Amino acid sequence: MQETVVVQTSARSQLVDITERVEQALRELPSRDGVCHVFVPHTTAGITINENADPSVRRDILAYLDRLVPWQGDYAHTEGNSAAHIRASLIGFSVMVPVDDGRLALGTWQGIYLAEFDGPRQRRVIVKLLAE
Ligand code: ZN
Repeated sequence: MQETVVVQTSARSQLVDITERVEQALRELPSRDGVCHVFVPHTTAGITINENADPSVRRDILAYLDRLVPWQGDYAHTEGNSAAHIRASLIGFSVMVPVDDGRLALGTWQGIYLAEFDGPRQRRVIVKLLAE
C-alpha cells in the first residue's frame, strides 16, 4: 500500500512542507490506521519532522547546516555536490508517523519536510502505510 508524491523544489537548499501531500496520499490508500513510512529515494535530499509554525526555525536549520557543512570544502566527490550528500545523510531519508483514522498523529507544531540540498529539481517521495 503505497503512493508516490512528486515535489518540485525551487532552491538549492530548502525545507518544503509536504504534510498535506502526505495526508492526501494516505487518503488514496484503503486502510485508515497503522504507521506511515515517508521515504525519499534520493541521495541529496532528506526527510525530517520539525516546527510548522515559525518559518524562522526552517531558516535556522538550513543556516546551521550551511555552517556545519560548507558548500565548498576539501571534498573528493567529483560531481561537486558532496555537501548535499553529507547534509542529506545528517537529516536522514525517512520518518515514520502513526496514522489514526486516516490522519497523521503529528504534534500540533509538527510538519513533515522534504529537505532539498541540491535543487531546484523534481523529487519523489514514497508514502507507504503499514496497516494495522
Ligand atoms: Zn553527487
